[in-house]
Amino acid sequence: MKTSRRHFLMLGVGVSSSLMLSRVAFADTANTLSEADPKAQALGYKEDASKVDKAKFPGYAAGQTCANCSLFQGKTTDAYGGCTLFGDKQVAAHGWCSSYSNM
Ligand code: SF4
Repeated sequence: MKTSRRHFLMLGVGVSSSLMLSRVAFADTANTLSEADPKAQALGYKEDASKVDKAKFPGYAAGQTCANCSLFQGKTTDAYGGCTLFGDKQVAAHGWCSSYSNM
């Protein structure tokens, strides 16, 4: 009986943890900036800075990413973080847009 009760409690904790993690993942995905967003397109935003159109945005230099942009609001270890240009949307740490600044 004790084993069964312990097993039930552990199962409950596991299920609760899984639900919390999936809610966090969903929230992050739902709130990320899309490259298709009109403002993102205007600024040449790419989730992967290596995919920036260098002919169209010659100001891009290798090594520039949202993670080292002064407008990035996340921590250096975050995969996504806020950007002062895009309101409540999260930008990719490895992303880039033409408003990049390191000042
Ligand atoms: S302003 Fe900086 S942090 Fe924001 S999207 Fe552009 S490069 Fe990324």
